[in-house]
Amino acid sequence: MSNQASTSDIAAYLFVGNKEVASMRKYCDECKKEVETKIITKRDAYNVCGETIEVDAQVLVCAECGEEFYSEELDSATLVRAYNEYRRRHKLLLPEEIKKIREQYGLSQRSFAKLLNWGDKTICRYENGSIQDKAHNSLLLFLRKPENMKTYLTEESVR
Ligand SMILES: [Zn+2]
Repeated sequence: MSNQASTSDIAAYLFVGNKEVASMRKYCDECKKEVETKIITKRDAYNVCGETIEVDAQVLVCAECGEEFYSEELDSATLVRAYNEYRRRHKLLLPEEIKKIREQYGLSQRSFAKLLNWGDKTICRYENGSIQDKAHNSLLLFLRKPENMKTYLTEESVR
């Protein structure tokens, strides 16, 4: 079930995140003292757009008793994984792929959104990790090809 190609950048991000959080000592409520922490991997289920997505979640725990600590870095990295798994299942473009399509035309997020007749912030949201709707995804896929963009622009100008 692993998807090496598209998760490699997340792995890199996680590595950086781990270094930050792993060195942290925390107060454990169970042990009633400051403890060393470590990171474990476990299967976790996330709800993405109404669908249950299982991913390997990295969790910060007490090295002595295993009590879990909340870590924003690890939690958001897991969420990114769950979102990407959802995208993979539904054949949706990744945020960086959307960005690439936009950049190949040298457009800002706002002007690209305008060209597509979408809300001002739509492209910005997608590039920042929101899941795009299916119709939007299809249009982006179509416009990835420069010849299709030409057709689209011609149709837009006669409308
Ligand atoms: Zn503990």
